[in-house]
Amino acid sequence: MEIKEVKAKTIITKTKLGGDYVINPYTGCQHGCKYCYAKFMKRFTGHKEPWGDFVDVKINAADLIPEDTDKYRDKYILIGSVTDPYQPIESKYELTRKILEKLLPLQPHLSILTKSDLIVRDIDLIKQFKDCTVAISLSMLDERFRRQLEPVPPEAGRKFKALKKLHDSGITTVLFISPIFPGFTEWKEMVKETKSFVDEYWFENLNLYPSIAGEVYKFLKKNKPELAEEYREIYSGHEEGYWHGVEDDIRGFCLENNLECQVYFHYK
Ligand code: SF4
Repeated sequence: MEIKEVKAKTIITKTKLGGDYVINPYTGCQHGCKYCYAKFMKRFTGHKEPWGDFVDVKINAADLIPEDTDKYRDKYILIGSVTDPYQPIESKYELTRKILEKLLPLQPHLSILTKSDLIVRDIDLIKQFKDCTVAISLSMLDERFRRQLEPVPPEAGRKFKALKKLHDSGITTVLFISPIFPGFTEWKEMVKETKSFVDEYWFENLNLYPSIAGEVYKFLKKNKPELAEEYREIYSGHEEGYWHGVEDDIRGFCLENNLECQVYFHYK
């Protein structure tokens, strides 16, 4: 693992992808998920290592957040759009924690996205924001499969415990069911197990970018080769019909069970 300390020029960046700003304390991600949508970030780093094998640590991240400004009050800031702010190295550098300390007096609407239960370390700070939502993402319940695609993040049980702790501390919790792999993601089971401590569910489907397609088909071949044909069918122009069906099922289920949900599906 190549860990490099770097000095960033900026840390709060404008975004058009929902919300107003994003903060990414690291470039690269130790979680190394095989389906990662953020792999494109590698081209901005000069790293030769594969995605998941390098991290640039923005050691001055917290210093770049201004004090005494109203600029971010009532603005939406997401921490963790192209990296995981609670990947293992955060226990050593505490960049995300330092960023939260600096953001606290500025009181933006804050969202934090992670796959790690390390986030419970910062509950003392997070609960002081007037509006903060924590989303923990989960792709699969079955550890035999999930570990092959996400070698580092913790299993579902640890994520559920973290969500419960956050919820019990008065923080708005989201279970982000992402990405939905046809034939693998038991989203109804996930909802049933968590609905007493999850405030909202977000759903995202698997977007089969060319850069990850090889890994996904390798995974299918090893685990459920009978699904490979179905995936080819879904991802060769029939995506819309297939995902519309899943979306209808999700919306119907959430309505029936009185659950808050957001569906972020990518269609061709
Ligand atoms: S945790 Fe998120 S950013 Fe990190 S490798 Fe996985 S999908 Fe990519």
